[in-house]
Amino acid sequence: MINASDADWFHVDIMDGIFVPNISFGMPVFKAITTHTKKFVDVHLMIVDPDRFIADFAQLGADSITVHYEACTHLHRTLQVIKQAGAKTGVALNPHTSVSALREVINMIDVVCVMSVNPGFGGQTFIENTYDKIAELKELITYKSATTLIEIDGGVTDENAQKLYKTGANVLVSGSFIFKSENPPETIKNLKLFNE
Ligand code: ZN
Repeated sequence: MINASDADWFHVDIMDGIFVPNISFGMPVFKAITTHTKKFVDVHLMIVDPDRFIADFAQLGADSITVHYEACTHLHRTLQVIKQAGAKTGVALNPHTSVSALREVINMIDVVCVMSVNPGFGGQTFIENTYDKIAELKELITYKSATTLIEIDGGVTDENAQKLYKTGANVLVSGSFIFKSENPPETIKNLKLFNE
């Protein structure tokens, strides 16, 4: 269904039950996804010490690997490792983490994932402060002449998609809103309508 849909990316949340209070899935399921999908695979590691698994995820077909700022003591090094593994670099920010935390490494980051809910569970309510963070991030990217994409993850629906896009978001991640809808391909299509 996703292969045939208008979705651009396949965003996969990997949760370890430690960094976030939930467990999703590991390598065998991820491998099954990358074997069958025709989409760009964006893996979001909501795990502690993600460096341990970067090579594995890259080898299994991740096009982009996103780690959490809060889970990386040596983020600069982690970003180098992701690049060396041949994947695009991503950094996710929890709702409490300021955009300014990425100031010194923004030019090394292909995608900043702004968490618009607290990570760990699907179906949560969107945090309104996200718009301010997008504007601030956009300013930082422009100031540093970076080419970083802004991705929004959590609570994305047809009610906020357009405003997020207009504020400066480039990538919208939607889970529950799509998969709990009656017609997921149609929901994906409608989410992108304003973008034409
Ligand atoms: Zn995610």
